[in-house]
Formats: sequence, structure tokens, C-alpha cells
Amino acid sequence: MVKDLRGKIKHQQCLKGYTTFKVGGSATLFAEPTNPEELQGVLDYGKEQGLKIFVLGKGSNILVRDSGVEGLVVHIPRGAFSRIERSDEQVLVEAGVSLPRLIQRTAEWELKGLENLVGIPGSVGGAVAMNAGGKYGTVERWIEEVSTIGYDGALHSYTRGQVDFQYRNAGLGQKIVLGARLRLEKGSREEILHRMREVYEEKSRSQPLSAKSAGCVFKNPPGQSAGGLIDQSGLKGLKVGGAMVSRKHANFIVNWSSATAAQVLELIQRIREEVKKRFGVWLEPEIKIW
Ligand SMILES: Cc1cc2nc3c(=O)[nH]c(=O)nc-3n(C[C@H](O)[C@H](O)[C@H](O)COP(=O)(O)OP(=O)(O)OC[C@H]3O[C@@H](n4cnc5c(N)ncnc54)[C@H](O)[C@@H]3O)c2cc1C
Repeated sequence: MVKDLRGKIKHQQCLKGYTTFKVGGSATLFAEPTNPEELQGVLDYGKEQGLKIFVLGKGSNILVRDSGVEGLVVHIPRGAFSRIERSDEQVLVEAGVSLPRLIQRTAEWELKGLENLVGIPGSVGGAVAMNAGGKYGTVERWIEEVSTIGYDGALHSYTRGQVDFQYRNAGLGQKIVLGARLRLEKGSREEILHRMREVYEEKSRSQPLSAKSAGCVFKNPPGQSAGGLIDQSGLKGLKVGGAMVSRKHANFIVNWSSATAAQVLELIQRIREEVKKRFGVWLEPEIKIW
């Protein structure tokens, strides 16, 4: 039985402002549930209407096409699903918390581990779903348990070993991450803050952190660096309309001047073709294209 969702579901909501790329069209339907009951109601509605579900966190790894998204976009709004609790070295965190906030909070608690993920934007839900991370480790390393709600409304919780964490993918399929239980290690505040600064400085030297982008566009092929291949193909600075291969980091495409998704997609295609021609490698996107 679908609960009363009046005013909770919007039609033709433009998604541009909900992504860090700042491009793309509208969602046919858009819902912002603020608690588990509303989320359940929204999912029931989607099921009843036979709608395709899209889960939107903080939109830092998504490219929305100009034609928009046909289906129901479920967005966890700011301030919802935002609990963080600590018990010794364990931290229980809900999906709507931003990853930078979680990192800050665990540093205040003198718990170390997550400082290695400094510089990654987005929500905890997105970080778990994407197994976000980099050369200093991925989220998976600190996870003990993940709780989810399936698109069918079923609640589950999975121990770390039950989740098929892979490179930028937790393999959760048709499930929404509700939260996670992490196990961190005791550390000293000074040591953690020092490491946070170190990692942040390294990232801001090599990545255009304040530009409109969705982070690294392509996955690294096994044993190779996508950014390195693009750089060696001489593509830094290549533009299609308002989209450009970052001069700072070749695996970033930046929206430097009112880019459209079509321009970003054309640039993606050109990069793939050029890298294929030079190195015989077909790059696979890391970003999610909706
Ligand atoms: C400047 C910049 C730097 C970045 N650096 C890094 C980096 O170093 N390492 C890295 O891994 N990533 C990086 N990213 C990419 C991005 O920040 C991460 O992938 C992040 O974890 C995505 O979180 P989000 O909430 O923004 O997810 P979104 O972009 O909203 O969604 C990404 C994917 O996760 C799914 N998703 C989101 N929330 C949930 C949920 N609650 N339950 C189930 N699925 C969900 C979405 O459906 C989508 O498939 C960077 C991005 C930017 C803009």
C-alpha cells in the first residue's frame, strides 16, 4: 500500500544542480525521502508504476544526459539519513552523511583510517556503492557491515565478506545503501590531521578539485593509468564546446563554460578513440552516465 506522497514527488525536476558536473536534463519523477518510511513509500510507488529507479547521492560521479532521465530519481536530501555514532573504534554512519564530514568527525574522535580518503566528495552511500578510494585504499577496507533497502522494499544487512567489493563497484545491484558500520583504529589527532593535510595537498596539486567535474572519467585499465594514457596521447586541454580535458589531470573532464552533456560525451568518445589508436586500449568509464 503506497503511503501518501503528495508534495513528495516532483515532475520534470532538472538534475543539473544536483551534480558536480552541472550538466544534463530533468528526471521524469524526482523524490527526496527524508526518513525510512518515506523511502519505503517512494519505492512502493516506483514499483506500482513500473518505473526505473535511479539513486542519486551528492551527484559527484554522475553525468546526466541532456535528454534527462526517464524514471524515478530517488535523492537523499541534505540533512536526511545523517546519523553518525561512535562506539569505541566502531562508527555507525548513515548514507546521507557527506564523506568529508565523516572524515572530519572521525579525526575529531581520534580514529584513523579515513584520512586517506580526503579530497573525495560525495555521500557515504555513494562512497560505499562506488567503493570509492584511490592509491591509499578504498572504503571497503574499513567496512564491517552495510545495510540496504532493496528496490522491492526488503531490508538487508551484509557483512563485509558478503559484499562483492570490486574496483569502483560494490556490486549491490538494485539496492539503496542506508548506512554502514566501520571499524577504524585509535590514532592521535595530530597524526591524523597531519595526514589529512598531506593527502589533500597531494590531491589539490594534481587534480582540479574546485572545477565542475565528476572526478576521474575513466577506470584505470589493469596495470595502467587512464590519466597517463590520455596525457601521452596529447589530449590535455582538448575542448569540445564547454567541455575540456583538464590541463591539471588528464583523466578529468571539466565543465569550463556551460558545457552540455552531449559535448562531454563527444569528448569522452574522442578520448577513447585516440587512446585506442595509440595504445590499443579501450577505456571504460568510471562515471555513471544516466
Ligand atoms: C573533484 C572530484 C574528485 C573525486 N575523487 C575521487 C577519488 O579520488 N576516488 C573516488 O573513488 N572517487 C572520486 N570522485 C568521484 C565521487 O566523488 C565518488 O564516486 C563518490 O563516492 C560518489 O558519491 P556521491 O554521493 O556523489 O554519489 P553519486 O555521484 O550521487 O552516485 C554515484 C553512484 O553511486 C550510486 N549511489 C549513490 N548513493 C547511493 C546509495 N545511497 N545507495 C546505492 N547507490 C548509491 C548512484 O546510483 C551512482 O551509481 C571524485 C569526484 C570529484 C568531483
